[in-house]
Amino acid sequence: MSFELTQDQKNLQATVREWAQAEVAPIAYQLDQAAEFPTELYLKMNREIGIASIPFKEEHGGLGLGILDMSLAIEELARADQTLALTTMVAVATGLTLQSFGSPLLKEKYLPDIVAGKAIGSIAGTEPQAGSWTAGFKSRAEKVGGDKWSISGEKAFITNSGADITSYNLVCAITSPKESEKTSMTLFLVPAGTPGVTIGKAYDKLGWRSSDTHPIFLDGAVVGDDMIVGKEGDGRYIVHKTYQSARCFLSACALGLSQACLDHSIAYAKDRQAFGRSLGGLQLIQKMIADMAVKVETSRLLARQAAIKADAGTASILELAMAKYYCCEVSSEVADLALQVHGGWGFMNDCPVSRYLRDTRITRIGDGSSQIQSMIIAKELGLDVTFT
Ligand SMILES: Cc1cc2nc3c(=O)[nH]c(=O)nc-3n(C[C@H](O)[C@H](O)[C@H](O)COP(=O)(O)OP(=O)(O)OC[C@H]3O[C@@H](n4cnc5c(N)ncnc54)[C@H](O)[C@@H]3O)c2cc1C
Repeated sequence: MSFELTQDQKNLQATVREWAQAEVAPIAYQLDQAAEFPTELYLKMNREIGIASIPFKEEHGGLGLGILDMSLAIEELARADQTLALTTMVAVATGLTLQSFGSPLLKEKYLPDIVAGKAIGSIAGTEPQAGSWTAGFKSRAEKVGGDKWSISGEKAFITNSGADITSYNLVCAITSPKESEKTSMTLFLVPAGTPGVTIGKAYDKLGWRSSDTHPIFLDGAVVGDDMIVGKEGDGRYIVHKTYQSARCFLSACALGLSQACLDHSIAYAKDRQAFGRSLGGLQLIQKMIADMAVKVETSRLLARQAAIKADAGTASILELAMAKYYCCEVSSEVADLALQVHGGWGFMNDCPVSRYLRDTRITRIGDGSSQIQSMIIAKELGLDVTFT
């Protein structure tokens, strides 16, 4: 497998890097402190460099590129601000779900604004009592009046669910009868503003503070049959497919942040004086920076392999889980080392590496936690793993 990027991919990477370093990195600390969703920045990013359009088909207004191209853009965004990268990846992942499984009507109505980066969407799986344990979801949709469904339940920690540019929430709900032994789920597109849907107060988070995260309360929210994404009963399969591209994107989010940690640490080690020489002249500092560099490069290889294979349609569950697991675990280690290199200054809120440590912590929990990825890896290696 060749990891060499094409000239077009290098150009894309350079464009996003230049834009993100000029427009996002200098304000990332203010965004974090304000802890408000940066609508204007998201719109500006897509007006000026059209990141959200990268992986969509040209017929939907996209650039017709792939998961690798999108991952390169996410990596560069995350190098400036992982939170903005995360917002973008969730919006794009929901759009890709619509592109793959949505009806012509859903695509026509909801895709153009996602592709143009004028709107965002969420995928609402997690519930207060069940995150990793997806079989524990309780939200339910009951058929009412022939071609309509009434959805009730509660979703927790949903990214992109309540911003002023949120267009829809993709809600996963049980649609099998209560008495059936095996539950099946259906994915519904619930447009923003649907009566019966209440978006709760934004969470006060440790990191990803400017991402838009809310609980969603559904109390008899009525949507038509035409709001089903894919087929009735296929919700679990579709969400699983969405998570596959999301795993490539989250690996890229973690990788970009790890690279930023390394960039800052090298610069600081060269600049800072200690014991009459530069900090970077001390062998234990050199060791920390060398360790960081190896972890960053290994992350890059796993993330690229997953994205290249995802584009080719050959990515295995094992490769996706390994990329997600490794890139996300290691980004916490790299951020911690970066803080150590920065000493007391690294512990200050306005030192970028302290924000990196807070931000990337959640990548080990969300989108299939590290424990869940380990179990997937062990299962793929033939061990007797049960998820019940
Ligand atoms: C900022 C943020 C944004 C999020 N965005 C979204 C979103 O957009 N959409 C969405 O649907 N969800 C979202 N989530 C939810 C996220 O996906 C869940 O938090 C995650 O899946 C873990 O679920 P949980 O919090 O219920 O923890 P639990 O599932 O209760 O897990 C608790 C701990 O137990 C471990 N664990 C769980 N099961 C096992 C097992 N079988 N064996 C060993 N260990 C296990 C977990 O790894 C974890 O460490 C978000 C969460 C946060 C914090």
